[in-house]
Amino acid sequence: MKVAESIAELNNLLAPYRAKHAPVGFVPTMGALHLGHLSLIRQAKTTNDVVVCSIFVNPTQFNDLKDLERYPRPIEEDKRMLEEAGCDVLFLPTVKEMYPDGDFSTLKDDFGTLDKVMEGVSRPGHFAGMITIVNKLFMAVLPQNAYFGQKDYQQLSIVKYFIEKHSIPIQIIPCPIVREADGLAMSSRNRLLNPDERKRAVLISQTLFKVRDMWGTKPIADLRRFVEGEFEKDGYMKLIYFEIANTKTLQPVTDNAKQAIACIAVFDGKIRLIDNVLLNA
Ligand code: AMP
Repeated sequence: MKVAESIAELNNLLAPYRAKHAPVGFVPTMGALHLGHLSLIRQAKTTNDVVVCSIFVNPTQFNDLKDLERYPRPIEEDKRMLEEAGCDVLFLPTVKEMYPDGDFSTLKDDFGTLDKVMEGVSRPGHFAGMITIVNKLFMAVLPQNAYFGQKDYQQLSIVKYFIEKHSIPIQIIPCPIVREADGLAMSSRNRLLNPDERKRAVLISQTLFKVRDMWGTKPIADLRRFVEGEFEKDGYMKLIYFEIANTKTLQPVTDNAKQAIACIAVFDGKIRLIDNVLLNA
């Protein structure tokens, strides 16, 4: 695996592929890699001549400075995992490379209704920062295909919207959520949980799976009360939001619509975790 720390180095590494119009696959990450990230790399390997993974902890998408400071950065372990997964190029830029002259201004764009709910409300400025860095990384890598996890369903929806709106010729490929054996969605933040918090965290996916089982048999208000009750019983974790949303618009659904998604965000101690499940009628 080759490592590029600047856009110029990345251009040099990708030039031969671009010259022969060989497809470039791209997996943007913030590192602290796990099997969820590696599933995206493996998916990218199936259809591209060269796979680029970026690791960049993007300061503009953190609305909480503590969250940014404590974000794990095990770079040597990440490199080993990427090598093993067959990643061809690791793009590892500095903050200065991605935000030259200390200009941390973010793109002002409109995502319709998509950023007016859930993470958009709970983390002000998060999606502006996210799309700013995704756009910068897209411009640097110029991939044909880019891979995003459904774990961050709202992010995936906004990236797809942005690409279509601006006619950017990149295919966005959604990848399924990879879970731990007990059901917890893999996340870089899981490694920040203490053993007690890690045990409790299983409640998040368990609750979502129960909602999925009950979908279509109970009114939405009852499902909401059930979820709130589960976290009240736990007493340690704090529910930030629970929403049942339209899979396209992300607006709350009020009836048992055909296609919906249940999304949740919780604080497990100081650590913020999100998850979701698709609900099919
Ligand atoms: P992150 O490093 O958290 O910014 O995530 C980088 C990419 O990996 C995003 O597209 C995420 O949606 C995806 N991802 C993170 N966790 C998982 C998971 N458990 N399963 C599948 N994809 C994931």
